Parts: sequence; structure tokens; C-alpha cells
Amino acid sequence: MAQHMWINGEAVAAASGRTFDVLNPFTELVLDSVPAGESADVDRAVAAAEAAFAVWRWIPAVEHADFLHEVARRLRQQAEALARQLTLEGGKPLVENLDEVSWTAACFDYYAELGRHSRGRVIPSIESSQLNLVLKEPYGVVGCIVPWNYPLLLMAWKVAPALAAGNTIVFKPSSVTPLSALMLAGVFEHLPRGTVNIVTGSGKDAGDALVRHRGVPVIAFTGSAEVGQHIAQLAAPMMKKLHLELGGKDAFIVAEDADLDVAVPGVAWAALLNNGQVCTSTERIYVHEGLYAEFASLVAEYVEGLVQGDPLDPSTDLGPMAREAYRAKVERQVTDAVQRGARVLAGGRRPPHLPVGYFYEPTVLVEVDREMAVMHQETFGPVLPIARYKNFEQAIALANDSVYGLGANLYTHNARYVKQFYEGVRAGTLWVNDPLTDNDAGPFGGFGMSGIGRELGEEGLDEFRQTKHVHWDFSMERKLWWYPYQEYNRAREE
Ligand code: NDP
Repeated sequence: MAQHMWINGEAVAAASGRTFDVLNPFTELVLDSVPAGESADVDRAVAAAEAAFAVWRWIPAVEHADFLHEVARRLRQQAEALARQLTLEGGKPLVENLDEVSWTAACFDYYAELGRHSRGRVIPSIESSQLNLVLKEPYGVVGCIVPWNYPLLLMAWKVAPALAAGNTIVFKPSSVTPLSALMLAGVFEHLPRGTVNIVTGSGKDAGDALVRHRGVPVIAFTGSAEVGQHIAQLAAPMMKKLHLELGGKDAFIVAEDADLDVAVPGVAWAALLNNGQVCTSTERIYVHEGLYAEFASLVAEYVEGLVQGDPLDPSTDLGPMAREAYRAKVERQVTDAVQRGARVLAGGRRPPHLPVGYFYEPTVLVEVDREMAVMHQETFGPVLPIARYKNFEQAIALANDSVYGLGANLYTHNARYVKQFYEGVRAGTLWVNDPLTDNDAGPFGGFGMSGIGRELGEEGLDEFRQTKHVHWDFSMERKLWWYPYQEYNRAREE
């Protein structure tokens, strides 16, 4: 039996009655089916969220905090079941999904508290009889559109701050991972009815309808740059507030003083976590020429020791990729690199012992150059292309050789390099000696084609609040600088 969407606190089918299937990428079999929502379903969800906004926005911040802490508690309570569902539909190893659920809960706890901290500020007024307030207000209904690689976490980075700011939500999950999203109905059901609504459906139908809807003033999107551009075009005529977290092509620099026993497993984890299907996956590795050959062969040896298999099996390091189309893109990029002169040190093929499931071996490429697709297009797969550099200035220039600017990594003990790195690299997050660690209080987002806006931190809350300036004069007096200007000019001359 098909699952239901969740609109206005009720489990409902799509208005059309249509459904679509959800696959397990490990077995390639259908797991379940979910409603194929379209504009009629989006209309219904937006109407529910608009009605809920009239209630939710006026609930005191301290009570919002209670509601959000309860979301976190329910997430933790269901962690095992949620993580298992994420594993079945997305293919990430179970342990990574347990982490995802715990980070998701932590994000709700963080914004529960931040949301009651401040509603704006008081600024110095022009005259002593006046009071000037900067007020932060919710927008209304926020449309959240999320990808499949971290379906709950990337939902939380939007939904938690948007709710804390007093907005209500229509959430469209990825069609790859809608089942875990629908399990969230139980996590949100204590909120006033219609505060959070979950509409499944394709990007083309449900996604577009949400972006086009006049009742949705904000679209918070994480996904590919192509779909981000499409959303920006759709939203432009309505001047919607857009929050776009897009792709990346993160660089990883290994300086000549790096400890290889740390940098080798570090780069492997940064590039291969979730099969490289992380927006901040390491996708370009630049190693000082003095270390290059040794580093590359150690990385190849290390990744060959990683275990691919059933993502529910605790001994598995790498599960299948999420879908066949994503694996095919990786295969095209590796073929292109090899045709242009790259050498495969490890992997470069589907694992022969795993004929079913969208597996691809962790792949190490050397002798790569910037003309190869694998060095400038987002790969989103388990590939480590390793290039060499001569001096640190060149390493910084190479790291900046991308239209993206989401994150970047450096391994060094050298403080001068660290300063050059964080001042010189155009990216939203700079990691030194510890790749990919996020912090709820640390803003996350990209430069250039990696998007617009920031999630997490105070910046992430402000994305969902619009600013009003209130200028209030307690004494109702005629002002000197009004008409007639003859009088004003005379007063100025005196
Ligand atoms: P997509 O851009 O294909 O899809 C993302 C979401 O957008 C999905 O829910 C999708 O729905 C929806 N969508 C697709 N087409 C439309 C449309 N026309 N209108 C509205 N919504 C639409 O990305 P993926 O799901 O493949 O995710 C991978 C991408 O996400 C990578 O590029 C990655 O870098 C990026 N990403 C960025 C992060 C960041 O923080 N910067 C973090 C994680 C991932 P449907 O599934 O139904 O097609």
C-alpha cells in the first residue's frame, strides 16, 4: 500500500490518486510507493500553512522553543527507525544515518534556543524624543526543497530556523528519499495543525508548483546548480526571497609538512563519505610535489582496503551510490579523464563481486589536469583525483580554480599557510586538519555557483526573518525642515 503525504495534520493521498515508486539502491528493488503530488496538492498544503501562520507566528518564542525541543526529542526517540529507512532508500551506511538523525535533532535544539534570544535590536535614535527599533519578522510560508544525500539534516537546516523565526512550512523532499521524510509526520504532529506540511512529488510537478505559488514568499533550496538556476528564474518575476545551497568542487591541499598517517585517511574520508555524495566532498586534491608520488600510492592502498557492501551491515564502509544515473555520471568522468591522460591507481570500475546495487569502486586518479571534467564539474561520486603543486601560492590559485566555492580543506602545521589559506581561498567553509566537521553555530554556504545565503548559525536564522525599521517620535511636533523652505533656509542661516 502506498504511503501518504502529510497536509494540515492529516495523512492524505495525492489529489490525482497517482503514486510513484521508491527504490532500494542496494537491491535495485522497489521499497514502497508515495503520492505523486502536483499543484493541487501544493495549493492545499500552502493554504494549510497560511492558516497555521496566523497562529504560529504569535506563539511566544519560549513556547516555540518547547515545540522545537520536542521535535528533537521525537527524532532521537525514532533514531533507529529513521536511520534504517534512510539506509534502505539512500544507500548510506547505517552508522552515517544514525549520525545524520542525531545532527538533525541537535539542529532543532540549537534553533529552539536561538529563536528566543532576540527579535531585533534597539538603535540610537536621531533625536532624544525618539525610539528606533530594528524588528525581525517571519515571512509567512517557507517552501523547502531538499536533495537525497542528507534528507533529514538538510530539511532541519531550513525547517528549524524557519519555524524558530515564526514561519510555517511546506516541505518537498527528494523523490529518491521521500519515505524517511514522510516518517517525520510523527515528529511534527504536536505542532499546531498545518505548521509543517510534507508534499511528495517530482521536482517538475510539486517542486515547480511550490516555487511558482504566490502564497510562498521564500524558497529554501538545496540541490544542484542547474535546478537552483531554474528556481531563480521561476521566482524572479515574484521577487521571492531565495536561499540556494548548490553544488561544490571542494579542494583539499596537502602541504609538505602534513603527517601522512593522518592526511591519507583524512582525505579518503573527506572524498568518500557517503560515496562522495556530499556537497562538501573533497573533489580535487592538491599535494606538494615532494610528497605527491608517496601520498598518491598510500591513498590508493588505503581505499583498496575499504569495504563495500550492504549499507545495513556494520562492517560496510561504502554502500551503493544512490541511483544508477549518478554512477553513470562518475563513469563518464573517469572515462574522460583516462582518455585525456589520467592514470587509475585504484578502482575505476564497478566492483565485480557486487553485480547488483549501484556500486562503484573508490577510485584514485593521478596525472590529472584542469581540462578533465573530473577536475571542474561536480562529480558527486567516490573519486579522488590527485594533482601536484610546487609552492603554496600555486596551491591557493589551484583551489580557487573553480566556479564553485562551497568548502576547502588544508592539512598543515604551518600557521603562515593556514592564514594564507583562509584569507586567500574563496569558499564558505575552510577546514584545517579536520575535514567536513559542521557546527550548528557556524554559518554554512557557498561563494559563486555554490549558492546564495547561509544556513546554520545566526545567519541561518536571519535568512527566514525580514527586517523592519520602526522610527517612533514620542513628541508630535512640526519639524523645522518641512515646507515652506523659505523658513527652513532662514533658520539655517541663523
Ligand atoms: P537536484 O537539484 O536534482 O534536486 C534537489 C531537489 O530539487 C529535489 O527535491 C528535486 O526533486 C527538486 N527539484 C528538481 N527539479 C525541480 C524543479 N524543476 N523545481 C523545483 N524543484 C526541483 O539535486 P539532487 O537531489 O540530485 O542532489 C544533489 C545536488 O545537491 C548536488 O549538486 C549537491 O552538490 C547538492 N547539495 C548541495 C548542498 C549544499 O549545502 N550546498 C548539500 C547537499 C547537496 P526530485 O527529487 O523530485 O527531482
